[in-house]
Amino acid sequence: MELLERRILSEGEVLPGNVIKVGSFLNHQIDVSLLLEMGKEVNRLFAGAGVTKILTVEASGIAIATAFATVMGVPVLFAKKHGTSNLSGDMLSAKTHSYTHNTDYNMVVERKYLSKDDRILLVDDFLANGQALNSLIDIVALSGAQLVGCAIAVEKGFQHGGDSLRGRGIRVESLAIIDSIDGGTIKFRR
Ligand code: 5GP
Repeated sequence: MELLERRILSEGEVLPGNVIKVGSFLNHQIDVSLLLEMGKEVNRLFAGAGVTKILTVEASGIAIATAFATVMGVPVLFAKKHGTSNLSGDMLSAKTHSYTHNTDYNMVVERKYLSKDDRILLVDDFLANGQALNSLIDIVALSGAQLVGCAIAVEKGFQHGGDSLRGRGIRVESLAIIDSIDGGTIKFRR
């Protein structure tokens, strides 16, 4: 998506450890109108797929998922990290590894918010090795809901999580795919 790619080129910073910082518009300060434009594109891509709910993970996925959900007219459910005390009842959980914090944690959602009739679109800000999405996919599988696909703002194609999910037959739509950051220069997949 050209609008997003232009913002990444003008404001994105390449940090050590292959981390790309887009805090000025995506996951610290938030450009809501950009997120809504991204939501329109995701709505176009998944038109007719019958999405009933978006599932993301706290914290930085929530704003993006909320913008997409506003355009698509569906609710957002977000997985909580660690299993905090304000959760009760029957839980679905999956262990995952945080790329940016280099720690393991559990993603948890209450079972009652995912039903077998749901058609789930997974949303996240970044896709790197695919650990976050794999854990969300496990939670959807545990619930018996149907996975429609994944909508990602920025995929780091050089880390191959997206391609391995596509290789398993999972639909992954990323609005920008960065294939190289060699020498600090961002290059997009064409
Ligand atoms: P994965 O689980 O695919 O390896 O990494 C995706 C998760 O790690 C996302 O939820 C995202 O929050 C975080 N992440 C991975 N790479 C980056 C990055 O380059 N920049 C930022 N801001 N977050 C990242």
